Amino acid sequence: MVAKREPREDSLEWLEWLERTYPTETSVRSLFERLVWPNGAHCPHCGSLDVWRFRKKGRSSRDGLFECRHCRGQFTVTTKTPMHATKLPLRTWLKALYVTLISSKGISSVMLAKQIGVRQPTAWKMAHAIREMMDDRDSLLDGIVEVDTTYMGGRPRKNLDPRYKHVYRPRGKATTRPEVAVAAERGGRVKAAFLSSSANSEQIGRFMGRFISPDAHIISDDDKAIGKAARAFKDHDTVTHGKKQYARGNVHSNTVEGIAALLKRTQLGIYNQLSKRHLQRYIDEIVFRKNQRRTIETINQRDGTVQVQFYHRPFIDQLEELLVRAVGRQVRRSNEGGLEWPLPIATGYALAPSIAFTKTMFQR
Ligand SMILES: [Zn+2]
Repeated sequence: MVAKREPREDSLEWLEWLERTYPTETSVRSLFERLVWPNGAHCPHCGSLDVWRFRKKGRSSRDGLFECRHCRGQFTVTTKTPMHATKLPLRTWLKALYVTLISSKGISSVMLAKQIGVRQPTAWKMAHAIREMMDDRDSLLDGIVEVDTTYMGGRPRKNLDPRYKHVYRPRGKATTRPEVAVAAERGGRVKAAFLSSSANSEQIGRFMGRFISPDAHIISDDDKAIGKAARAFKDHDTVTHGKKQYARGNVHSNTVEGIAALLKRTQLGIYNQLSKRHLQRYIDEIVFRKNQRRTIETINQRDGTVQVQFYHRPFIDQLEELLVRAVGRQVRRSNEGGLEWPLPIATGYALAPSIAFTKTMFQR
């Protein structure tokens, strides 16, 4: 008998497999418990590992409830994560995570809502909760690193109202659109951050210092701000696009321009509207997805050329990387229908980690 072909991971067949493998709330809960607490359950209130699980023995307690021996606090796997106090089944969250992670350029909340069977506002909040775990700000880029900046958001409109015809709305460098800095390691990871409406070399310098190793070889276009900031690094080369110069051997900025184009395409094709308030989170999502890509290099035996193939990491591996960052990142609904981020311990509300990053790095 021929063995059944394993379904491709980005096919709906695989979604069926996922639903068959984790058919009940309990099975999804134990999967989440394994991924959120890889070193065993710990208390999200005080961090203690001395916890015990409620057993369903004649007492009525909700599923997956733990109690901490140290602070007597009770918690489950979703406590103080972006799924805190969710009224949705965890199976819906698993489906949302699956659909989000396999879409190559992201998925709009309208489409997500249809696919997992919730209302659009719910799907919008879920998508932001998932994005909140997607930041990648730990490692440094090294080797050949290409740096570039790009603008997001809508193009400046033409003034159709005759009364405001004289008002000049500049394009390019003088525009008020948010500027995004992108750094890409040749054949490696990517970092991107939302700077501000008018970037200067100080902000770009701060971005590069935060994400790039001082021993790196920087390649950029002839942007003066990047040139000034690149003096702090070991090496710097430029390609002058204005002089129709695009590549001199190894010196080109094609990798980073591909990513800048990806940011643009995601905005144009999927999200259509990106508010400044949530922009860093959308950028984190695009970069996370890009960084989940792995390459296989095969050498052609006949002519010795190298062929590069890309593939995405398995869904469960991506899920593992996401959920391990879950604790301490609550995303709640605000009274106005937006989003709020409670502080990990105290009462009152804090900035989201993604927004706090922009605020502290690039004071605006
Ligand atoms: Zn505790």
